[in-house]
Amino acid sequence: MTKHILIVGGGYVGLYTALRLQRRLHRELRDGQVRITIIDPQSYMTYQPFLPEAAAGNLSPRHVVAPLRRVLPKVRILNGAVTRVDHAERTVTFQPAEGEARRIGYDLIVMAAGSISRTLPIPGLTDIGIGLKTVGEAIALRNRVLHLLDVAESTDDPEVRRRALTFVVVGAGFAGVEVLAELEDMARDSTRYYRNIKPSDIRWVLVEATRRVLPEVGPEMGKWTLEQLRERGIEVKLDTRLESCVGGHVVLSDGSAFDAETLVWTAGVKPSTVVNASDLPLDERGRIKTTTMLTVAGTPDAFAAGDAAGVPDVTNPGQYCAPNAQHAVRQAKVLADNIVRRLRGEQLVEYRHKYVGSVAGLGLHQGVANVYGVKLRGFPAWFMHRTYHLSRVPTLNRKVRVVVDWTLALFFKRETISLGEMEHPRDGFRAAVATTHR
Ligand SMILES: Cc1cc2nc3c(=O)[nH]c(=O)nc-3n(C[C@H](O)[C@H](O)[C@H](O)COP(=O)(O)OP(=O)(O)OC[C@H]3O[C@@H](n4cnc5c(N)ncnc54)[C@H](O)[C@@H]3O)c2cc1C
Repeated sequence: MTKHILIVGGGYVGLYTALRLQRRLHRELRDGQVRITIIDPQSYMTYQPFLPEAAAGNLSPRHVVAPLRRVLPKVRILNGAVTRVDHAERTVTFQPAEGEARRIGYDLIVMAAGSISRTLPIPGLTDIGIGLKTVGEAIALRNRVLHLLDVAESTDDPEVRRRALTFVVVGAGFAGVEVLAELEDMARDSTRYYRNIKPSDIRWVLVEATRRVLPEVGPEMGKWTLEQLRERGIEVKLDTRLESCVGGHVVLSDGSAFDAETLVWTAGVKPSTVVNASDLPLDERGRIKTTTMLTVAGTPDAFAAGDAAGVPDVTNPGQYCAPNAQHAVRQAKVLADNIVRRLRGEQLVEYRHKYVGSVAGLGLHQGVANVYGVKLRGFPAWFMHRTYHLSRVPTLNRKVRVVVDWTLALFFKRETISLGEMEHPRDGFRAAVATTHR
């Protein structure tokens, strides 16, 4: 009888698990003994560490994603969301992009739905806040920053100008620090094309609730990063929380208040909402309760990994693996191998990986790294950041495209055009139709 493996989510864990299963179960797939399905609202996997560079225009948005159907020809890809998991009945409810929801049965499930932005009930956050988890958000952010430079250049009103040129990022982990540093670099670069905007006219504010930035690279390199950001004129407010931002009026816990047109929220993540719509056990932080073998605790035929799963860190007893790509990719490999072992009736193995540190890009030719205890800053760290991520991007095709983008940006300067119009492609046509009905 055919075994159906269903993977919920085609991100890091979903893509890499399916890639390995596709290779290791080559014969079983060909003979119809095994079937694999991935369900994801998108038809591509997003390489999230490249989102800040996509926002800054160093990389084309198409090149920071890997098309699932092309990379996984032996896997069925369904686009839409899993809205419910009834594991007791071995079925999920699938809501396709268009049309009625339907139930899909499986023999084995892999929960790989990742995370969403962890927000707080802050007044006004939905008015101006934007996250940084998707290509859509990265590109909207880029268009927004460039559009606001256009606005500032074209207005006579100093209030409008000040508000347009004030950018706030909340959360100083790698997503927040990298996107702020990359956007600041891009905006600084772009000011040469504007007559009335100097780099010092643009206000960048980084708000962080704890006392440190970039904990991923350790205290020493975090301190160095903080100094670097401040030297670049970025206001870094530590030990400070966003209290409200109604209508773009930003109020911080240190008593300061100002208007801003843009606020990027990168203050942590929480598991995808689908984990709450399932009968799988959750841990105290709302993640799927997972064993060291990447099975769902006390549940047969269910596996989980990545940001949505609470995976015990066997190298650090009592702790869990942090939600990052470093773990997600390695967990996917062990998870796929454990599925193969389960199908063959073999003993499963534990997931064991000691966090090796991190690399972060801080704009063109600037970076910080702390990997295997080797601490780098400036150009060497930036170079390491690029080579490391290049080695990690799935498929040769994407690697080549990324290198071409970087090379073009090196010789021809990056593109600094806002294509915000793409977010409202029908406005012009609608206006034209309206004139014929008058
Ligand atoms: C800006 C940014 C920079 C980062 N930089 C780094 C870095 O430098 N180093 C590092 O190690 N980590 C980094 N990370 C973290 C890393 O990207 C994540 O930890 C990793 O993507 C987690 O993998 P995942 O498979 O669990 O989730 P994801 O890769 O997010 O994949 C989850 C997938 O599930 C899909 N999905 C969600 N809900 C459903 C549903 N209901 N039904 C079906 N599908 C669903 C989503 O569409 C998505 O495709 C960064 C993250 C961000 C946002």
